[in-house]
Amino acid sequence: MAFLADRLDRIKPSPTIAVTMKARELKAQGRDIIGLGAGEPDFDTPENIKQAAIKAINSGDTKYTNVDGTDALKKAIIAKFKRENNLDYKIDQITVGTGGKQVLYNALVATVNPGDEVIIPAPYWVSYPDIVHLAEGTPVAVECGQNHQFKLQPEMLEAAITPKTKWLILNSPSNPTGAAYTAQELRALADVLLRHPHVWVLTDDMYEHLVYDNFKFATIAEVEPKLYDRTLTMNGVSKSYCMTGWRIGYAGGPTNLIKAIAKIQSQSTSNPSSISQAAAVEALNGPQDFIAKHNVSFKERRDMVVEMLNKAKGLHCHKPEGAFYVYPSCAGAIGKTTPEGKKIATDDDFVTYLLESEGVAAVQGSAFGLSPHFRISYATSTEALKDACTRIIRACEKLT
Ligand code: PLP
Repeated sequence: MAFLADRLDRIKPSPTIAVTMKARELKAQGRDIIGLGAGEPDFDTPENIKQAAIKAINSGDTKYTNVDGTDALKKAIIAKFKRENNLDYKIDQITVGTGGKQVLYNALVATVNPGDEVIIPAPYWVSYPDIVHLAEGTPVAVECGQNHQFKLQPEMLEAAITPKTKWLILNSPSNPTGAAYTAQELRALADVLLRHPHVWVLTDDMYEHLVYDNFKFATIAEVEPKLYDRTLTMNGVSKSYCMTGWRIGYAGGPTNLIKAIAKIQSQSTSNPSSISQAAAVEALNGPQDFIAKHNVSFKERRDMVVEMLNKAKGLHCHKPEGAFYVYPSCAGAIGKTTPEGKKIATDDDFVTYLLESEGVAAVQGSAFGLSPHFRISYATSTEALKDACTRIIRACEKLT
């Protein structure tokens, strides 16, 4: 009898974490590496948030809390949903988990039966299909190419829905492409969903605040209130508030689903850290002005990266609305040969070539379900980004 469970064979380790580890390892060996794999802001957690955590420690706020979050944090989340999304939730409609990832995991494990289908627009965040696999469901990837600005089109959604469809996962702005849906685009998807009342929507709004050029963020339950009773609106403090290590994510949704999520959490991790929850209350209720300041930097970096990458031979880079990623096509590099005589057959080969020849660590598009592309995170200094893009241009120039 094998020691390890069969379910382990259904999933793979996160490829984005693998790239970051590989870049770290090469750096430790003394190589000059620029890591563009990380999915976290390079800014520090704001001071007022850190102070709230210190206060929580000093005042003994260090014990178990409600399994799915303190009342104080749930109230701050209710206020946030009302203020920013015009969504009304009661306290028993809110759940807090150890990061957005846990909320998503719990929601899928609590609802997906073997054979249930989950529609995932591709390219997608790497964890969606693997979590669906763990839950014994079937991920149904729908390819949304650069010709559609990487966004799911209503007719593609209509074609993907079957009687077995349980969820549609939406992620706007998106990891890995930065693409964000306008209210009008969500409206068109909502019209399809209204015709299929058995399909629920899990909307991952983790990058809500990271949008540029006056783009107006919208979320589907706000756009179509008739979907409110079958939508889980997920969000978190990791990205907008530079709190990836604090591990707080949350969601609002129908009471029966929220209860089911708490049941899973009660038999796995119990409550998220009491100290991080106190910090998240301050994040949501405190000053928000630093977000706009960070966005000025992110926008400048995005513009520079897109401009430089579009100068690279064989690459084409779409300018996205938000998040801190770009997802250039490397179709023009496929079939070419490196100076060492290696053929570039896939985007995996292309990112390996970038790493080996120029020390630039990016993530291959195959990891996100749409090739031939690669993902660059521009949540790093402008100086490092400029250097990285110069190296990429040079690497592309050398391909024959
Ligand atoms: N959703 C998306 C699209 C993400 O990119 C990430 C993190 O990379 C998460 C969810 C998870 O966020 P958290 O760190 O809060 O678990």
